[in-house]
Amino acid sequence: MHAVNQSKELTAYRGHVISPNINGELNDIREGVLIVDDHGKIVFCGPWAEFDRHSNLKEIHNFGDKIILPGLIDTHLHLPQVTVTGKSGEHLMKWLERFVFPSEARCADPHYALKIATWFFDEMVRNGTTLGVVFSTIHKQATDIAFEVANSVGCRAIMGKVMMNTNSPPALTENLSDSLQGSLDLCEKWHGHDDGRLLYAFTPRFAVTSTSDLMSECGKLWHSKPGTYMHTHLAESQEEIDFVKELFPKARTYVDVYHQHGLLARNNILAHAIHLDDQDLDVLKETDSSLSHCPSSNFFLKSGVFGYRRVEKKGIRFGIGSDVAAGPQMSLFCVMKDANYIQPDEWLYPSELLYRATLGGAVALGLEDKIGSLDEGKEADFVVVDPTHRTGIIDDILSKPTEEILSALVFLGDDRVVEATFVRGREIFNRQNALELSSIRR
Ligand SMILES: [Zn+2]
Repeated sequence: MHAVNQSKELTAYRGHVISPNINGELNDIREGVLIVDDHGKIVFCGPWAEFDRHSNLKEIHNFGDKIILPGLIDTHLHLPQVTVTGKSGEHLMKWLERFVFPSEARCADPHYALKIATWFFDEMVRNGTTLGVVFSTIHKQATDIAFEVANSVGCRAIMGKVMMNTNSPPALTENLSDSLQGSLDLCEKWHGHDDGRLLYAFTPRFAVTSTSDLMSECGKLWHSKPGTYMHTHLAESQEEIDFVKELFPKARTYVDVYHQHGLLARNNILAHAIHLDDQDLDVLKETDSSLSHCPSSNFFLKSGVFGYRRVEKKGIRFGIGSDVAAGPQMSLFCVMKDANYIQPDEWLYPSELLYRATLGGAVALGLEDKIGSLDEGKEADFVVVDPTHRTGIIDDILSKPTEEILSALVFLGDDRVVEATFVRGREIFNRQNALELSSIRR
């Protein structure tokens, strides 16, 4: 029997617990239980039969044979772009100009910014995502509002004001000092809020819309604020790469542009990273950089194929990202499916995709001591999933082997399978409550 500290009030969540470990294997516990203390920490995760029932249990939630997974981690997505999902027909550069920049410009209006941020974070937790690494817009006020909303929703966010000072439309072009000062102010206000639930990421959009000065000053600012992140895009499309080559002719490659400006180091997150040579990968590994692989987006904009096995073999840390709105949906189950589909020759297995959407993302962000898997001592971020809910998945799936359950979730799952979402043991989404709320609103 596993005895735990009796001085704390404990809550039990019973179900089929599936959680990856650092070796990429699964902890697979049918009739398992997650015991969470009143600080939102996991104090026990194991078979219900091995738990000391005499511990000071306040409540028991029994999800039967439904699945309890670690909270999903989306390592790259754009808050203001939720209104332009599914706008097809253009490659990256024209797509930005035609659809994305006009939608981002609207966030200058704080009423609009509030509406979009509210919608965005509700949607995120409805999809079972407990941590999003989020691009806002260049607007300081809209980004502040977005942090307020994330704070009240109760999810985690690593977020920042976008920095753009060249090659962008007038409504989305800032001067260098405003860009730096706005970023610094938001960082000081929000970084580390609620014991690290909200974290700041300095967010230069990409090399195309950042002058050399902006990138190097941003790098200095980032390094002066320990624990903050630097979030940007890298080598997504060929047209973008050609443009960067024109702008920075002395740099060997796109990776080199960021390297020269001090943007390659631990705690960065580089989205896409598709078109890279071996030397680029060596530099990313040596600098301890992290990547976000966004397969749905790469499919949608026809940007190219991420070298999944190459990057993995090199030992570079990476998670997966929905990249909404270039990725049409927020569900990381759909992103996991696309990660498999976009590789032309290789199978990616459901258990390794689950790792990328949970612990792999946490490792990429250096947060694996706190989140990403369901282990004693970690914070209780988890999702209750019912694979049979309206997806057409056979109804006896829960009695099948775990690989089969995960395969069904990856290939058939989406937002519909998410029954409840918890961060630090606090329920921040419940499908039943959400349905009742929407019928009252109607
Ligand atoms: Zn993006």
